[in-house]
Amino acid sequence: MTTELPHTRVPVGEARSRVIASVRLLDTESVALKDLAGRTVGLGVTAPHNLPAHANSAMDGYAVLAGAAGPWIISAHILAGDNPAPLIAGTAAAIATGGVLPTGADAIVPIERVEVVDDLVTATGPIASGDFVRHVGADVQAGDVVLHPGTRLTPLATSAVAGLGLISVACIRRPRVVVLTTGDELVSPGSPLERGQIHESNSVLVSATLAAAGCEIVRVDSVPDLADATRSAFAAALADADLVVSTGGVSVGPRDHVKPALLELGVTELFWRIATQPGQPVWCGSAPNGTLVTGLPGNPLSCLVGLHLLLIPAVRAMHGDDPEPVTVRAELATAINPLPERLRAIPMLLRAGVLEQLGAGASHQLSRAARANALALIPTGTVELPAGTIIDAVPLT
Ligand code: AMP
Ligand code: MG
Repeated sequence: MTTELPHTRVPVGEARSRVIASVRLLDTESVALKDLAGRTVGLGVTAPHNLPAHANSAMDGYAVLAGAAGPWIISAHILAGDNPAPLIAGTAAAIATGGVLPTGADAIVPIERVEVVDDLVTATGPIASGDFVRHVGADVQAGDVVLHPGTRLTPLATSAVAGLGLISVACIRRPRVVVLTTGDELVSPGSPLERGQIHESNSVLVSATLAAAGCEIVRVDSVPDLADATRSAFAAALADADLVVSTGGVSVGPRDHVKPALLELGVTELFWRIATQPGQPVWCGSAPNGTLVTGLPGNPLSCLVGLHLLLIPAVRAMHGDDPEPVTVRAELATAINPLPERLRAIPMLLRAGVLEQLGAGASHQLSRAARANALALIPTGTVELPAGTIIDAVPLT
């Protein structure tokens, strides 16, 4: 149990450190090339051979031995993919971009820098050895590390794996996530609303955000606001997941069963309540089996804050990636008031380095926030921040 006073809020950086310290690096598994995009490198990817493997031409032109300007007889035509014979001394070989440099040549004269008359080619300027040649190993040398552990496999990184000729990579196993929604007022999208009901949206936000961060969403369960049902839902979730994320029911109301259920299940509290607005009533704990459990608040924009400032960093730590949130510096389009003791985290629209407010200042205003592509971080303070103030923002995935 915590020794903190009921109203203590943990600074979000401290809360994040506790979460990151509680998770462990997951195991690796072999992942086929076609499935690599979005995965994270577990064991470093090294080059099995030099790239380029063979010296070749960077331009369409003529392969020659530097030192003279011609004229040379065109004695061969080399296309990309050919395995050319040695260059006949004193001649030039017409060569396409990517064509292998023939033995006996050491430079390429681009087509734009020659004059061709009949079968004779003459350079119009000086030629130095190595000109327009892609040398062996100029991209990477055999044994060099191309992708370090913890690197996210972007489309570019994945194509680099293919370029090395590899068909699989040892990746970090995807963190298994169980999502629980609590709230008797929730109904599924598509169902008509009775008075008092709302459509359930948090599971969509949580699942999509964590899937984009590389997680496998094992399942999404809805839990009624009952103590026993809450406890058994968490017990089942803990057995199946590296990360359990619930939404709602974590505050201090009579139907908020999440915290007591988790404490009964032996989950050790990491913190309760962070110094943000919105997003304050979040509970995090570590289960005996090492599973991270997070009770996010029910309000959708509060969930957003916990996801980006706590859970994506936790997932990155499980992947061996740098867990600190990725931020950009951007300028406020309009003035905003900070809070003296809490970091405000407001969804905004980031365009050309400028953050526009969308009027989504309250934690239930999901529709207003829908166009946001950044979570603006308004540092604590007592004085209004004028338009033009540069602040940090977390790009939203
Ligand atoms: P709670 O944290 O359970 O007190 O819920 C706070 C607010 O968030 C209430 O207005 C809930 O109706 C709303 N809420 C809770 N869970 C969800 C959900 N899964 N989707 C959308 N809104 C929710
Ligand atoms: Mg509730």
